[in-house]
Amino acid sequence: MTSAMEHSPGRACSVSRVPRFDLEADVIVVGFGAAGACAAIEAAATGARVLLFEVAAGSGGTSALSGGEIYLGGSGGTPIQRAAGFSDATHDFLTYLVMAGGPNADAAKARLYAEESLAHFHWLRSQGVQYKNSYIAEKIVEPVTDDCLIWSGSEAAWPFAQEAKPCPRGHCPQFVGMGGGKYLMEVLAQRVSDLNVDVRFNSRALALIADDSGRVCGLVVRIDGESRYARAHNGVVLCTGGFIMNREMVRRHAPLMLRSRQPIGTVDDGSGIRMGMSVGGAAINMSEGFVTIPWYPPGSLVKGIFINECGQRFVNEDCYHGRVSQYILRQPGGDRVWLLVDQASYAPPDFQQLARIEIGAAAETWEEVERELQLPQGSLINTVELYNRYARQGEDPLFHKAREWLQPLEKPPFVALDCRVDHCFYSSFTLGGLDTLPTGEVLNEDRGVIPGLYAAGRTACGLPRWGPGYSSGMSLADATFFGRQAGLRAARAIANGASRNRPPEFE
Ligand SMILES: Cc1cc2nc3c(=O)[nH]c(=O)nc-3n(C[C@H](O)[C@H](O)[C@H](O)COP(=O)(O)OP(=O)(O)OC[C@H]3O[C@@H](n4cnc5c(N)ncnc54)[C@H](O)[C@@H]3O)c2cc1C
Repeated sequence: MTSAMEHSPGRACSVSRVPRFDLEADVIVVGFGAAGACAAIEAAATGARVLLFEVAAGSGGTSALSGGEIYLGGSGGTPIQRAAGFSDATHDFLTYLVMAGGPNADAAKARLYAEESLAHFHWLRSQGVQYKNSYIAEKIVEPVTDDCLIWSGSEAAWPFAQEAKPCPRGHCPQFVGMGGGKYLMEVLAQRVSDLNVDVRFNSRALALIADDSGRVCGLVVRIDGESRYARAHNGVVLCTGGFIMNREMVRRHAPLMLRSRQPIGTVDDGSGIRMGMSVGGAAINMSEGFVTIPWYPPGSLVKGIFINECGQRFVNEDCYHGRVSQYILRQPGGDRVWLLVDQASYAPPDFQQLARIEIGAAAETWEEVERELQLPQGSLINTVELYNRYARQGEDPLFHKAREWLQPLEKPPFVALDCRVDHCFYSSFTLGGLDTLPTGEVLNEDRGVIPGLYAAGRTACGLPRWGPGYSSGMSLADATFFGRQAGLRAARAIANGASRNRPPEFE
């Protein structure tokens, strides 16, 4: 028996070094979160024999910790969007997705998702995921009820609203309380079981196996402390999540993200990305991540203004909390950032305890607040004065905050809420990963397909790939939809002739 210590995700194993194959399947899926579950479901539904390896003792991964919210729309709108009075044209959805993808947006993935998202909603329902026909209009992070449709991004804010008709697209499953991801994963895991996928828990993928031509043809897995060799006739689908828990990888690839003290996830150690790279896979957008402090609700706080330690504003505060947080992270001088509110807009943040947002200063005049915060004389005063002058006219010429959130900050007492990055709860997960086609096929540095290798979810660089463009629901939208594409493509490789290469011992 070969020791598991000999293998590492960063080094592929040559098929010539495989002593024997202990297991075999048409499609091997690694990781039983949302992406892996959807890849396995689609591959198995086409008749492929699927082996699913999961390092944990059960299914779920980070997906089961999540809100379960999925970003859906286009084609005129889901039934829930339409019942709430919204129509969501595909071109608006596509425009938003491309803008949200940032400077390196993946237009092909965005287009496919915008066109197929409504069908994906029906697919999720057909798997058994329930959605209540209801809509919450207020600006919230996640429903605490079993309601469905919410505004979960920056759709109604500048610059997105100028280019694409705003529409709420966050669809939360019918689950009472936060954390609908647990329910979502229970439903998907049941489907995996119904389709007789061969699931192996407590099984850590150690390394890919590749043949001399560079084709990925299997996986080394550690089971009971020993290396086992699994042959994949069609391909291996990597769905092991991102790398936020691997602080060394974060330091190397996404150092700005280290400023968030609260990485959120489960394993997320980058093993899948490293395995992909070991056979020449290109890892892209590795510096990008989701970072947020849940500073609203209540929505009244959006009527406040954020300032940095120069006393300057830097963002339109009506954006999604994750976009605002990205701007906070990038402020000069580091950590000192406050949300200024007056008596009319102040209310304690709903997530005050979790977010650790405290009152940094409170006074009867803005001059006193400025002094208490030890800001350069006149800096805060001038910012507030300019903001108030235009807010009275319903304008924000600097940052284009929408009219409904503009209200002069003129009713004492005045408050500065302390949103220091090194003190408050800024959570984070990574968005960079393996470069893939919409089919899930992994690409090398020349954007050539690596035969036999697929990736989805946070192991891949998918639809969400730019922190300032992230909207809640985009990660699971990407993981579930593109997980499905990867599973389908890998399974179809049988029909395309991959099975002809099957060695006789498995015929
Ligand atoms: C608190 C919280 C709330 C969130 N809410 C939302 C939300 O509402 N909507 C949204 O879109 N996103 C949300 N996210 C983000 C989202 O949950 C994740 O980005 C997404 O679930 C990733 O899915 P995945 O399938 O790629 O990875 P995962 O769900 O993490 O699945 C990866 C699986 O691979 C396994 N694994 C890892 N390495 C190996 C290995 N070497 N061998 C075998 N198995 C391995 C892991 O154990 C895990 O089960 C939230 C995240 C958190 C933490």
